Amino acid sequence: MAKMELRELGNTGLKLSSVGFGASPLGSVFGPVSDEVAIATVAQAFRRGINFFDTSPYYGGTLSEKVLGKALKASGIPRNEYIVSTKCGRYKEGFDFSADRVTRSIDESLARLQLDYVDILQCHDIEFGSLDQIINETIPALQKLKQTGKIRFIGITGLPLEIFTYVLDRVPPGTVDVILSYCHYGINDSALEDLLPYLKSKGVGVISASPLAMGLLTENGPPEWHPASNELKAACQAAAVFCKEKGKNISKLAMQYSLSNKDISSVLVGMNSVQQVEENVAAATELATVGKDEETLLEVEEILKPVKNQTWPSGIQS
Ligand code: NAD
Repeated sequence: MAKMELRELGNTGLKLSSVGFGASPLGSVFGPVSDEVAIATVAQAFRRGINFFDTSPYYGGTLSEKVLGKALKASGIPRNEYIVSTKCGRYKEGFDFSADRVTRSIDESLARLQLDYVDILQCHDIEFGSLDQIINETIPALQKLKQTGKIRFIGITGLPLEIFTYVLDRVPPGTVDVILSYCHYGINDSALEDLLPYLKSKGVGVISASPLAMGLLTENGPPEWHPASNELKAACQAAAVFCKEKGKNISKLAMQYSLSNKDISSVLVGMNSVQQVEENVAAATELATVGKDEETLLEVEEILKPVKNQTWPSGIQS
């Protein structure tokens, strides 16, 4: 099996596996996952060369962090051989980006993860807070945490792409190391592409999450809570059926689409089984050795054309 490709993350010096492990499913947000399955899934990810794991206190109301922590410990892999990102500011109870809350939050996360430090701490879904508070209060608090060694790098995450330019235009260069965008670099929505030159010019590392559009681009379809319109859900389902009838897999096609852009350091896909690890790593290996299935991709893009770049509201609505 070919080695998993590692990609530099902005100016951090970190080298992330191109396939990143999204641990929200370990919080049972896409259906229940036992500790045994979680441990086996993470162990398989390590075996296949995945070195980047992303979680949040919000996923499964802290369950994802706890289960990921258990699974990382059970793997026995030395701490310096993997990269962990978690988040702050978004909780089951609601949003709180105050300096006090995020400063306590990292200690709680480290305890749940059974770690001494995380590589990246990200302000989670900042469109639900005041962006000026993020700039003036939250990020300075995270900079203090950097000095304590509890975190190595600072990130911001969210759905609307404007949040990234708003913050990055207002903080000194090098303050925000990483952005995490989701559902904007996949077959149905590739709006992040236009922002990549700007992010590069700022020296900011780019993580792109949800290549399967949080389940839209899977044969099983999305979970009930998925925020997409019925039109978008129907179009993605039609694309999945089309692929299946052709003997193809929509999720593989979607993974390969997202992995193709090397300006994206890691494509974070949520995984909750050994089989999903195998499939997503195989998609990356096939992309590196054989290339994309251009024919099927064009056909699927045609099916999704009426909903291309259609998204949904996120954040405080005025
Ligand atoms: P995703 O697009 O990665 O889809 C995950 C779903 O697809 C799950 O149901 C998973 O079981 C399933 N799946 C995975 N591999 C599959 C395969 N090969 N075949 C069929 N189904 C497969 O969505 P996601 O999990 O929401 O996103 C990935 C990760 O990115 C999250 O776990 C999280 O770590 C991160 N993320 C962060 C934010 C944020 O910070 N705001 C938002 C979204 C996602």
